[in-house]
Amino acid sequence: MPGPFAYRDGALCAGSVPLAPLAERYGTPLYVYDFDGIAARYHAFSQALGDQPHRICYAVKANSSLALLARLARLGAGFDIVSGGELARVLAAGGDPAKVVFSGVGKSAQELKDALAAGIGCFNVESEPELWRLGELAAAAGVVAPVSLRVNPDVDPETHPYISTGLKDNKFGLAVERAAALYPRLAEHPHLDPVGIDFHIGSQLTSLSPFIDALRRVLALVDQLEEGGLTLKHIDVGGGLGVRYDDEAPPSAAAYGAGLKGALQGRPQTLVLEPGRWLVAEAGALLTTVEYEKHHEGRRFLIVDAAMTELLRPALYNAWHPIVPLVEPAAGAAAPQAADIVGPVCESSDVLGRDRAITAAAGDRLAILAAGAYGFGMASNYNTRNRPAEVLLEQGEAYLVRRRERYEDQLALETLALGESA
Ligand SMILES: *Cc1c(COP(=O)(O)O)cnc(C)c1O
Repeated sequence: MPGPFAYRDGALCAGSVPLAPLAERYGTPLYVYDFDGIAARYHAFSQALGDQPHRICYAVKANSSLALLARLARLGAGFDIVSGGELARVLAAGGDPAKVVFSGVGKSAQELKDALAAGIGCFNVESEPELWRLGELAAAAGVVAPVSLRVNPDVDPETHPYISTGLKDNKFGLAVERAAALYPRLAEHPHLDPVGIDFHIGSQLTSLSPFIDALRRVLALVDQLEEGGLTLKHIDVGGGLGVRYDDEAPPSAAAYGAGLKGALQGRPQTLVLEPGRWLVAEAGALLTTVEYEKHHEGRRFLIVDAAMTELLRPALYNAWHPIVPLVEPAAGAAAPQAADIVGPVCESSDVLGRDRAITAAAGDRLAILAAGAYGFGMASNYNTRNRPAEVLLEQGEAYLVRRRERYEDQLALETLALGESA
């Protein structure tokens, strides 16, 4: 099983904490995150980079729980944000704005203004129009905006077919030659300060070579700028390191760190990293209860109380998550039978696991593992379902860090508009 999950005396536990009592107390569907595992990974990352000056900016979109952000801030983490909403979360969680980098292709004028007012560490700019808009807003505010250009290293698709954001035909970043031409103009702007360069080539990468290829291309530009008299302070290599859902074998933090340091060859720039999934995915589980067992046309269905509204990844990406019962099947019990584990939402794509050999019946509870990243963050109210509660575990203690939504919460923003207009 991935992450901190294992059976102890027949009970599925996260570390030392049994999960069934949490499901009992807080109800299902319920997200549970093991913060100790996340902290251990944060330290492993930092350790792998050793004496290379570095900053780990957690990619907030992977899991934006305030309690999680507050704890990462306490460890000294910075944050990679992609919206004004994520900035608001980081500030509410006590994050240091000077350690925030702001990514994304479509930052609105309001988002840029808010981030300038907060004094964030760097704007990761993705286009020329964004750059000049930022320059104007910084001038109007009487400040200088720290800027990095996101370059698109166009890593060879022949050798790395699964990379989704680092190819030249997608919407992200600027071509390396374009960035090379822009840096000198940016350096002359009185309200823009070129402090860094960044890239992010994709997600769930299980091989090191695309990272290293991309970094080498970017370092060639860094050297070229240096020759022209522009010294950057940091190099931001994005996120994207993969995790284990099934039988993937992603590189370890140590191998990743060693690979990056090897390519940097002692350059003095601060290395900025934006890991999301790698820090949080394996530390999370979504607990659910089987409502019905249904046999139909020779197939067995376990209809559970979680759905694509709680965990969209299987429906959206055909992603595979381990699904296991909270109570370990007794030794010598009947062999597990295949079942499709499906949610109650009125969509055929509302499947959490297809064709799983699993021993479970109505009333039993299950855990969907490796659900800590891109889980709750993608939850929706489709079918007017309340978004689930979240529990965070830290050193053996369980904290309810988000209560289950109520129907009143959902209805509160609406009006019937049957009478006179407002
Ligand atoms: C999504 C994203 C990340 C995090 O990606 P993971 O695969 O979760 O590590 C980092 N940087 C940028 C710019 C992103 O868009």
